[in-house]
Amino acid sequence: MQQRSDKWNITGQLDELRAQGLWRELRPLDEASGVTVRTAGQEWINFSSNDYLGLAGSAEMQNALAEGVARYGGGSGASRLVCGSHRAHAALEEALADFKGTEAALTFSSGFAVALGTIPALMGAEDTIILDKLSHASLVDAARLSGATIRVFPHNHLEKLERLLQTAKGRVLVVTESIFSMDGDAAPLEDIVALKNKFGAWLLVDEAHAVGVLGPQGRGLAAALGVDQQVDLHLGTLSKAFGLSGGYLAASRQVIDLLINRARSFIYSTAPPFHLAHALNVILNLIRSEQGEALRAQVLGIAKQAHDLLASMGVASPPGAAAILPLIIGEASRAVAVSSRLRDSGFLIPCIRYPTVARGSARLRITLSARHTAPQIQALGQALREALDFQD
Ligand SMILES: *Cc1c(COP(=O)(O)O)cnc(C)c1O
Repeated sequence: MQQRSDKWNITGQLDELRAQGLWRELRPLDEASGVTVRTAGQEWINFSSNDYLGLAGSAEMQNALAEGVARYGGGSGASRLVCGSHRAHAALEEALADFKGTEAALTFSSGFAVALGTIPALMGAEDTIILDKLSHASLVDAARLSGATIRVFPHNHLEKLERLLQTAKGRVLVVTESIFSMDGDAAPLEDIVALKNKFGAWLLVDEAHAVGVLGPQGRGLAAALGVDQQVDLHLGTLSKAFGLSGGYLAASRQVIDLLINRARSFIYSTAPPFHLAHALNVILNLIRSEQGEALRAQVLGIAKQAHDLLASMGVASPPGAAAILPLIIGEASRAVAVSSRLRDSGFLIPCIRYPTVARGSARLRITLSARHTAPQIQALGQALREALDFQD
């Protein structure tokens, strides 16, 4: 036993993580309602959730889920290719395609599963995938899994992207996020679209942090910029602004048909419960409605207040930023200390470290919700100043 653990060096690896300030652990949570979380009698204001519109804990969500459960019960029992494709899934996919302005859409059990299924289904060893350096782990893993040649351009660097496009072999897929998850800034989608068109490449845009928040009816950044019709593959999650769980790929009918035949995370995974599909369809209607528009105005208003607050502390907001604000600290151990001090004063703001972000760029990641209030942002300002000063 001893010998075995030495060989695997689990203890050594854990010690190393601790020594580098990269140790992660799961913190228990008893209750999360709206923007407040509670554990063992303590309470925090939550600035760590991607529930941008505050829908996860809403009455509308409760009702949609209850209705779905009453109608459809629990799990789906099998993959959709085995057990049949339930009309609740078909209805959601039709609504998502209409929302994204594509011929079709396919839902998966998570956004991560969308990437892992989609990219290897379309790309192979002869092909080239060109990714923005800050692309989400799911996109990087999916690109690796495909066996295609992988090229990476520095974050939002159009000249380098163009150079990579000039020499790329086979079918070429450009991959980027629209609003970047850990930096909060926007991709120059109009320029990227122009480039991919010039070189006859395809473009996949991951709108995980923009859908629901930006664009007409919350359709995302590409729609806000009017280039959505030129995006070939629209990837999104149903776990963030949608307040529930799952992911989708919206594209042409042919691409979706190919995914149904080839996307392994779709084929070999049990279909998400029908009641989730039902609730997501209700929530999609809400997101597209006047009520959704009001929630978007609210979260963007609160985010503006938080941007101004950080600006008053000398921290510039990222270009195009919406509801994600990074506060770069640098050293991982210092970021952990600041985050922990904020927790002591009642604010839940996660510290993001390597390997999620580059070494030396550890940060606090503040995410805003339509449910945050102006006094909460003011209180956050005070707590941030204290936490940062304390370290200096
Ligand atoms: C969260 C996230 C995903 C994964 O979506 P899940 O539904 O949480 O699996 C994919 N891409 C980006 C950019 C994300 O932030």
